[in-house]
Amino acid sequence: MDKIEKIYEGKSKIVYSTEVTDYIIHYFKDDTTCFNAAMHGIIEKKGIMNNRISAKIFEYLESQGVPTHYERLLSDREVLVKKAQRIPLEVIIRNVTAGSLCRTFRLEEGQKLPCPILEYCYKNDAMSDPLVNEYHIRAFNFATDEELAQIKNYAFLINNLLTRFFLRRNLELIDFKLEFGKFKDKVILMDEISPDTCRLWEVGTGEKFGKDRFRRGLGNIEETYQEVLARVSR
Ligand code: UDP
Repeated sequence: MDKIEKIYEGKSKIVYSTEVTDYIIHYFKDDTTCFNAAMHGIIEKKGIMNNRISAKIFEYLESQGVPTHYERLLSDREVLVKKAQRIPLEVIIRNVTAGSLCRTFRLEEGQKLPCPILEYCYKNDAMSDPLVNEYHIRAFNFATDEELAQIKNYAFLINNLLTRFFLRRNLELIDFKLEFGKFKDKVILMDEISPDTCRLWEVGTGEKFGKDRFRRGLGNIEETYQEVLARVSR
């Protein structure tokens, strides 16, 4: 499947159309942003590693009954995916306190939550992805109640599956972000799952992997993406 035309360029990916209407190609860049793009940088070969890591995770989730946009890897940086109609929400699940949860509620980082927290943010850069609840989602027509019920079920199922998947690889899944879309009237998981969208800490030592190292100005950033790739490939 070949790229026909660039249809969108985001912070970390470029989207191309293909000769088939229902399929598009995602090209993973090395650009990295966090704190709603207030911080930007390049992590060498990150696009290659995230493309591979995300493919492994989507293949695993598909094998466990979660419908996703993933079709197949095309090259180091390119993946063929279904062209879903984006639901404009970032769905965040948190198992352990970190990041914006600590900033908002003045919590100490690294405390196991008694039950997972699910948050929705309206995906809008100009508004810095504001937190929304189910009433905003209904009133602003971001998703129907039925779609939202499915999103919630998938999000908690994915949390259970990925928590165990990463634990088997000695990594604790602290929190992560999901995006969903509609394809042929069904809700499916889209975007990516990678060390850019998950906080992963080494079990035992709490050593941070992926984007957390970039956020905090820690070294060996590329190496930790490489290490996550090696562990998810096991
Ligand atoms: N996250 C993401 N994209 C975003 C915002 C958050 O992938 O636009 C992920 C982030 O990597 C983390 C989780 O969602 O795993 C929770 O992020 P948090 O709100 O704590 O964000 P921070 O401000 O710390 O980046």
